[in-house]
Amino acid sequence: MSDYNNFDVVTGKDGFAVVTWDMADRSLNVITPEVMDELDAIIDQVVGDEAIKGAVITSQKKDFTGGADITMLAGIQGVLEKQKNANPEKAQQKLLDASSRLSQIYRKLETCGKPFVAAVNGTCMGGGTELALACHGRIAGDHAKIGLPEVKIGIFPGAGGTQRVVRMVTNQQEAMQFLLQGRTLDGNKAKAIGLFDDVVPARSVVAAAKAMLKAGVDPVREWDKKGYRLEGAQKIMSPAGFQFWPAANAIYRKETFDNYPGARGIMHSVVEGLMLPMDLALRVESRYFAHVLQTPEASAMIRSLFVSMQELNKGARRPANVPPARLKKIGVIGAGFMGAGIAYVTAKAGMNVVLLDQSMDAAEKGKNYSADLMKKAMSRGRATQAESDALLKKIEPATDYARLKGCDLVIEAVFEDRNVKAAAFEQAEAHLGKAAIFASNTSTLPITSLAEAYRDPASFIGIHFFSPVDKMMLVEIIVGEKTEDTALATALDYVRAIRKTPIVVNDSRGFFANRCVTAYLLEGHLMLTEGVPAAMVENSARMAGMPVGPLSLNDEVGVDLGWKILKATEADLGARAINPAQKKLLEEMVVRRERFGRKNGKGFYDYQGRNKVLWPGLADLAAPKPAEQFDVGELKHRLLIVQALEAARTVEEGVVTDPREADVGSILGFGFAPYTGGTLSYIDGMGASAFVALCRDLQKTHGDRFKPNALLIEMAKNGETFYGRFGKSGRKNGGKRKAA
Ligand code: NAD
Repeated sequence: MSDYNNFDVVTGKDGFAVVTWDMADRSLNVITPEVMDELDAIIDQVVGDEAIKGAVITSQKKDFTGGADITMLAGIQGVLEKQKNANPEKAQQKLLDASSRLSQIYRKLETCGKPFVAAVNGTCMGGGTELALACHGRIAGDHAKIGLPEVKIGIFPGAGGTQRVVRMVTNQQEAMQFLLQGRTLDGNKAKAIGLFDDVVPARSVVAAAKAMLKAGVDPVREWDKKGYRLEGAQKIMSPAGFQFWPAANAIYRKETFDNYPGARGIMHSVVEGLMLPMDLALRVESRYFAHVLQTPEASAMIRSLFVSMQELNKGARRPANVPPARLKKIGVIGAGFMGAGIAYVTAKAGMNVVLLDQSMDAAEKGKNYSADLMKKAMSRGRATQAESDALLKKIEPATDYARLKGCDLVIEAVFEDRNVKAAAFEQAEAHLGKAAIFASNTSTLPITSLAEAYRDPASFIGIHFFSPVDKMMLVEIIVGEKTEDTALATALDYVRAIRKTPIVVNDSRGFFANRCVTAYLLEGHLMLTEGVPAAMVENSARMAGMPVGPLSLNDEVGVDLGWKILKATEADLGARAINPAQKKLLEEMVVRRERFGRKNGKGFYDYQGRNKVLWPGLADLAAPKPAEQFDVGELKHRLLIVQALEAARTVEEGVVTDPREADVGSILGFGFAPYTGGTLSYIDGMGASAFVALCRDLQKTHGDRFKPNALLIEMAKNGETFYGRFGKSGRKNGGKRKAA
């Protein structure tokens, strides 16, 4: 029997210990303080026991590990926050000790004198990959996925990852891409770039690791040997280094605009570390890691992109009183652009789909979309013919509404027209059982009023996908006034089944995401009409942290769609609800010049294949002024503030009731500057009073769209944050509207 709670250590007759990681009460192994203590003790055991010649580290679970328990890092941050004022020096030391502990344990393993081989049977992330890299040999299972994704949540691999990757992967470009992009590699790719020694069937990883030990594994790493020499660009002060590193820095800046302390930490650790021996290099890495952990960006990203996202994925907003839905057969009405994508993700999750359209041709075309996606996946080795066949078998194209019989959930994605939708509801409801839930994928029509055309508004709900459906991870669920808990629970169970992240919002024109996006597009349009050069509009947005500029984004969603929405808003709410300068610009673009966006090859950009350039004719629509007349800092603020302010309004109106959803929704739905942690974290980060002051300044020069709402003014006066004021109430509220 083993003395450890999380590991089992068994020494065979061959003299090799097999250390098997298997945490009780967890489906996935993660690195906790107890795991660290036990690893430390296991190294002592292996070193101290003369009968042990070497060790294999593996996992009993399907996967090797998910990496460090990120809530532990959030905990370290919390402790630090509390102690910072009382004794800042002690607090700093404590943080450094805590954050460098794992690195020291791995270094101890690496230099312990006996060989360790990692037998990575399945997914291996973050601190787990760093453990494998610290071992003296590495075997990957054929389905293993290996990655250091820390940078995606605002931090970086701080347990030796940066130092070992750049020393093991001689091609520095590959090494830096792996670190900076936080990409996941399969075993073969990890082997090809020099990170792993071999790839074998998952069930044979331990045997292969033992065979490796038997054949002889050097327990001294190259960098710990006398005369170790770095090669090529690994040598910073060399012709190859002089060529590579300035270019790498330029790419880093172009990709991040220096907005991400985590990515900056990687650059510093690597460049400084490569000029030092390993022990010192690891200390440099630890110091940068401790520094990055204290940045507001790291806190915000960990909270939104890890903690909150996980909570939402696990159904934080699901009404607990409803038993889990068993979804087997799903109807999708409308096999167009969206319906085809919805059918694909649904079939991929193992559910049967009836994909219905007006003609068999249209329905078949919708199904072919899945066939094309599977073909692409097969050509990239990500799917087999059998998987493709099985998925396609699940999609039944149809024209007869009677085929919807027996569906547990039907999602409607027909034209965005109230009457067309009402006709589809009527035809569908005759064939649906009492318990069936009906959902609309409408992007603009309020759910409460749409539900009136359905036989039972209580089982009617909005399930709003983003395009392209197969790539976008967010789904916005809209609760109408009469929607009941069963419909909400079913919608959430469905979103969970297709492995996307849900946010639950209450009904309003544009719901949550599209309201913020519309404000962003409007700001871009108005900048153009003010004479801001188009390239400056786009670059300011990228510098502010948006993945694409507003003009580019408008081209993707369709300039004509923007025009249609503007006209519909004007018709419904009157001329005061729209901006005349925007109307003039869009009318010129769409009605007079037929510039609809990427779809017809001309919008704010001209398109030729994959290439695009800003349309020179924009200068005729609004004469650009010299760039020097504009302050980039103000342009950046405008582009983020309009979105964040709109998010604050949705909270005041009770559309969003839980700040986690506005934050996660804004990053996943429309790419709101991820380093801020999302729209509301952006406001909380600077403080409501600073945000209100910025809004007031902008209001003076740019008008009332920047007028801070009453909620923000009150929060500024009381020194409140969104998480402080709404953090708990939203959670209790079960998705029902509760005015702020
Ligand atoms: P689309 O024009 O590509 O597809 C609509 C499909 O519905 C067509 O194939 C049409 O033949 C079919 N259809 C129309 N009436 C029908 C009926 N009575 N019965 C069966 N099929 C019928 O449109 P789309 O872009 O897929 O949009 C569909 C819905 O999704 C709209 O409500 C839209 O607002 C919403 N939406 C679109 C996007 C987007 O980016 N395109 C994003 C989110 C939501």
